[in-house]
Amino acid sequence: MAEDTLFAKIVRGEIPADIIYQDELVTAFRDINPAAPTHFLIVPNAIIPTVADVRAEHEPALGRMFVVARRVAEQEGLEKGFRLVVNCREHANQEVYHLHMHLLGGRPLGPLLVQTP
Ligand code: 5GP
Repeated sequence: MAEDTLFAKIVRGEIPADIIYQDELVTAFRDINPAAPTHFLIVPNAIIPTVADVRAEHEPALGRMFVVARRVAEQEGLEKGFRLVVNCREHANQEVYHLHMHLLGGRPLGPLLVQTP
């Protein structure tokens, strides 16, 4: 069994979070340090550390994450658009090793990547 994670504790209600949606497969909650006016995290309830650990058995939860992203975006009035981001490991600055989708919106988000030398 995978190690416990901060987000698994949020899923189980052991750490407080502003949960906007939860079902048997996924949980969506507000990011504690928002990078945009709307910033939610959508996570599988079961721990998958990174995208590099994804297996076929995870397809139902991963598919549900997109359905919930669309639902939350509608609920938040993001009809002008939004961005979904999933960071994987060091080069993407993944901080929490429990796979999660960032849903960002509420203003123009600019280019995908800031250029670095
Ligand atoms: P990553 O860099 O791993 O893709 O994103 C991790 C995200 O988790 C960050 O945006 C960070 O603000 C958020 N985060 C970290 N700790 C907590 C927490 O305790 N509660 C909530 N709601 N978000 C958190």
